[in-house]
Amino acid sequence: MGQANIEASAGVPTITRDKAWYAERRTEVLRSMADVERNTLLANIVGTAVIVGFAQLLPNANKFLLPAVLRFIAIGLTSMVYVRIRNQIDRGASIERLYRACIYVGMLGGASWAYLILPLFLEPTFHPAAFLVLSGALIATSLVITNTSSLPQIWVSFCVSYLLVFWTGMASAPVEFRVPVLFGVTVIIAAVAAFAIGAAKNRIYAAEMLVDNRRLGEELAEALAEAEFLANRDPLTGLYNRRAMFEGGDTSNRIRHILLLDIDNFKQVNDHYGHDMGDRILVRIAQSLKDSLRRIEGDGHKAARLGGEEFAVVLDMEDSQQADAFAEDLRAAIAAVAAEFDMPDRLGTASVGISSFEAGERVGDALQRADNALYAAKTAGRNTVRRSDP
Ligand code: GH3
Ligand code: MG
Ligand code: MG
Repeated sequence: MGQANIEASAGVPTITRDKAWYAERRTEVLRSMADVERNTLLANIVGTAVIVGFAQLLPNANKFLLPAVLRFIAIGLTSMVYVRIRNQIDRGASIERLYRACIYVGMLGGASWAYLILPLFLEPTFHPAAFLVLSGALIATSLVITNTSSLPQIWVSFCVSYLLVFWTGMASAPVEFRVPVLFGVTVIIAAVAAFAIGAAKNRIYAAEMLVDNRRLGEELAEALAEAEFLANRDPLTGLYNRRAMFEGGDTSNRIRHILLLDIDNFKQVNDHYGHDMGDRILVRIAQSLKDSLRRIEGDGHKAARLGGEEFAVVLDMEDSQQADAFAEDLRAAIAAVAAEFDMPDRLGTASVGISSFEAGERVGDALQRADNALYAAKTAGRNTVRRSDP
């Protein structure tokens, strides 16, 4: 199974929320933020232009020019970073470096908005345009805080740099304004930030659903592949099972060969040495089958455990003599396994019946002939190979 692990709890699969899961959630949140950034870019530019335009009606209009330039630089850089983030996410590439860039442009954004309203308080006027500039800037700031609130690092760096720049700037404001303005703006920013946290939950939840669903899909695909694998395998030995070996009942145009193997006197092996020992011998025999197949040319050969102590091998080779030689090698290899386990004579050895497909013959018929040959090998005294009559 994959790293994410489906845990069955009351029958409902749940996804483990590991480090990778949180990283994926953050990517999804960033993707959605990047979309908002892209869709609001024009509104952002126009909004800033309108606010700066109102500021031009004020007596200290020129004091707003540098902050306006900084605002447009912040808009440009932010937009660049989020476009790149979106590209990286679409390409499946790492966004670690760009995420840090998001934090920096967040700080720049916070600083630029604070810097833009400072001239209102450094040389206070009660000009109507001052209210428009202030309310416009605060609304825009609130929108940024709301859009970044699902990613606390960006949201915090925006708010902190906003307040730091504002507090520092206010040091040179007229004394009687300092406390109420500092207090008022700080409370407004804090209130917006607190509200935004609540709104962020929905976006985070949507990202979580997306990640969970994607993971479940991956896990299910893996589980399905595993189930398919298991459905074709014998659990004790890992060889193919009967179904995988002979399903379809197709005929082959190439001359193939079927070997049926039955372990000799295996009941006695179990009776004398125990069932566990019997199992270990079966596993060892299966290993020896795999090793023997690996040593011959071609990759179309297959070995299966048909059940109990019965095995089958399908050889995808033309030459019957070569197949006979392989059957004999296999018999000898299994006899060596029996010897390895110190089995007495004809215990744990193999009797082998071999048949070769006739042109257009059905699998079942070739199998039957191999079975007859196997029977002949048993009656001939076991630990031997017999070939079927055509
Ligand atoms: P022979 O084939 O040489 O005629 O004798 P045999 O004793 O092998 O024949 P039989 O087919 O009657 O017995 C097969 C035995 O294999 C019966 C059972 O005890 C044993 N067996 C079947 N499946 C397993 C298994 O999964 N594990 C173990 N340990 N033994 C098994
Ligand atoms: Mg048997
Ligand atoms: Mg047997």
